[in-house]
Amino acid sequence: MKPARFAYHAPATVDEAVALLARYGGEAKLLAGGQSLMPLMNFRLARPAALIDLNAIASLAYIREDDGQIRFGAMTRQRAIEFSPVVRRRLPLLAEATALVGHLPIRTRGTIGGSLAHADPSAEYPAILAALDGVVVARGPRGERTLRASELFQSYLTTSLGPDEMLVEVRLPAMPDGAGFAFEEFSRRHGDFAIVGIATMLVAQGERCTAARLVTAGVGPVPTRLRQAEEILEREGLSDAAIEAAARRAAELVEPDSDIHASAAYRRNLTRVLTGRALRRAVARLGGR
Ligand SMILES: Cc1cc2nc3c(=O)[nH]c(=O)nc-3n(C[C@H](O)[C@H](O)[C@H](O)COP(=O)(O)OP(=O)(O)OC[C@H]3O[C@@H](n4cnc5c(N)ncnc54)[C@H](O)[C@@H]3O)c2cc1C
Repeated sequence: MKPARFAYHAPATVDEAVALLARYGGEAKLLAGGQSLMPLMNFRLARPAALIDLNAIASLAYIREDDGQIRFGAMTRQRAIEFSPVVRRRLPLLAEATALVGHLPIRTRGTIGGSLAHADPSAEYPAILAALDGVVVARGPRGERTLRASELFQSYLTTSLGPDEMLVEVRLPAMPDGAGFAFEEFSRRHGDFAIVGIATMLVAQGERCTAARLVTAGVGPVPTRLRQAEEILEREGLSDAAIEAAARRAAELVEPDSDIHASAAYRRNLTRVLTGRALRRAVARLGGR
């Protein structure tokens, strides 16, 4: 199928894009990589009156390291992130997760801003934003505001961005040196969206785990931080027994839904299995091993 008729705009600046959003009062859609939006339009599940194409705004594509933070312009391609030396060095969890987003041609077009704004619960980037305690910067006619993952993601494919707001930047704090990390996911075929994904980061001092992060993808409408499972590791350390206990607790904490891809019970069991796997891989990487 082909999309319904739409007007097309290619602004050269963010201000122009924001003005166009305001002019259409919620009837326009921003076009980033098009990897989610174009299929929706081709199936006529989305019928915007206008597309505001962000691809001509060169100032929205960058990766910068700045005072312990890595900043990404919203139009930074997933492929640029995957192969960025700064990302590999400072945010290896993001590099690992990016390689799991679809296939290389999709990552060549798809953007970090588009993925976060699309808010697919099975996508990797929303879980990474939550796991690394990052923020997004949204700009609208009234100026800019920053939002954490818990403030941005509201439900399936739904964010708290207003109809006249756009994402302009994503900020992720650099991971601590020597942190262990892993992104584990299960999907039916390579490149498919995850049925369940688990992002983890561990910081340790000797035998102690001083900080643990565990966040789900694909288990419920928004990424879920599994704080009580993290606390088991911070209290009991990173022994096999503690990892098993954290994985069991993770499965109790989630509230998955059933859909055509998997039942809630299957997702719950995957949460336990993948949490265990992610934690064991993260432990093996502690201290830069
Ligand atoms: C076969 C296939 C497999 C895929 N597998 C995966 C996968 O495994 N994991 C995964 O995470 N993704 C996957 N995707 C989706 C893909 O990664 C997209 O890149 C991503 O979901 C959307 O990014 P985009 O830049 O293409 O955004 P677009 O499709 O252009 O836009 C998506 C939505 O975000 C809005 N938007 C875009 N930019 C902004 C902005 N700056 N501010 C506010 N709103 C904005 C758009 O208006 C639209 O509503 C897959 C896609 C395909 C086709």
